[in-house]
Amino acid sequence: MTTASQTAAPAAPAPQPSDLILIAGAGGFIGGSLTRYFHERGFTHLRAVDKKPLPQWYQRIPGVECLCLDLSEETACRRAVEGAAEVYNLAADMGGMGFIERFRVECLRSILINTHLIEAAWRAGVQRYFYASSACAYNTELQKDPQVRALKESDAYPAMAERGYGWEKLMSEMFCQEYWAERGLRTHIARFHNVYGPNGTWDGGREKAPAAICRKVIEAIDRKTGKIQIWGDGTQTRSFMYIDDCVLGIDKITHCDRLVATPINLGSSELISVNDLVSLAEEIGGVKLKREYQLDAPRGVAGRNSDNTFIKQVLGWEPHTPFRDGLAKTYRWIEDQYRRRQQGQPTVE
Ligand code: NAD
Repeated sequence: MTTASQTAAPAAPAPQPSDLILIAGAGGFIGGSLTRYFHERGFTHLRAVDKKPLPQWYQRIPGVECLCLDLSEETACRRAVEGAAEVYNLAADMGGMGFIERFRVECLRSILINTHLIEAAWRAGVQRYFYASSACAYNTELQKDPQVRALKESDAYPAMAERGYGWEKLMSEMFCQEYWAERGLRTHIARFHNVYGPNGTWDGGREKAPAAICRKVIEAIDRKTGKIQIWGDGTQTRSFMYIDDCVLGIDKITHCDRLVATPINLGSSELISVNDLVSLAEEIGGVKLKREYQLDAPRGVAGRNSDNTFIKQVLGWEPHTPFRDGLAKTYRWIEDQYRRRQQGQPTVE
């Protein structure tokens, strides 16, 4: 298995501001932020689709066509792609470790979304198709040490992905690669490494570590408990990518002819342990808490980082927001959400 595109793609024209762009999963964290990103760049014809009822969408952008459709169904996918020049698939049943370790069937069933959406996109003559893959597609055998070697694109094979969620990502990547190889649909695949930032899930069981830790620190301050519960022993390491880097990276990857049907890391290469993440959140909140380690809680792989050699080589760019800066913004946003909830106002959850 090679990570490079088998057939060199000829140059394709850039999208026009009036082209119809479909964002699937736009009621969620990254899809909502991507919709806002395109809107702010002057794209006037955006279609946002999610299965959640509209009042539950994390962001609603004025002037954007919003459709409530279940994209695991073929007819819904056909409707969603009508007239679209570009399709961005960010729809999936997902969450942090607590969710993906517990609900593997739900994670696997997201394969229905990509399977129907890519077929509909190809039939409708879409020019570009983006798929949101994940670092969970990488071989778990390579992630057993907190001081892990950063993962490069070829490390997905031989395959031993994360059970459920990671295998779904790997199979959907392959769909994207074969739709290009056999049918000529220009597909682009990014393997995201933990994305965080404002307008993301911060409570309810699907949130990821940065949001969960910020919320726990805020709760501890509010309830004056003086302590914090941490999943695992806190030595697990990860890299975290700020949402602004993520949406910019999606745009760059999708409009790069060298990256057709070629999975690429989209992540920060700044490695941090969960213990250091807690210290940073404590510093931002101006508090020091007693740590209680929950050794039987989900903790995921021991360590994971993004090797950014390839993205720097192809795009001359990599996600670069310092974690300290991104976490401070995220913390303040969650603090605001927390207050709003206490006052009975609507929040993102
Ligand atoms: P999210 O849960 O906030 O958003 C996903 C959205 O997809 C949700 O709003 C959900 O309602 C929607 N959805 C689920 N099933 C659907 C269906 N059948 N039809 C229509 N909509 C449906 O998640 P996110 O963090 O924004 O993730 C977006 C994508 O990026 C997902 O594919 C995810 O696997 C991938 N990813 C995210 C991260 C991360 O750290 N957030 C890391 C790696 C990969």
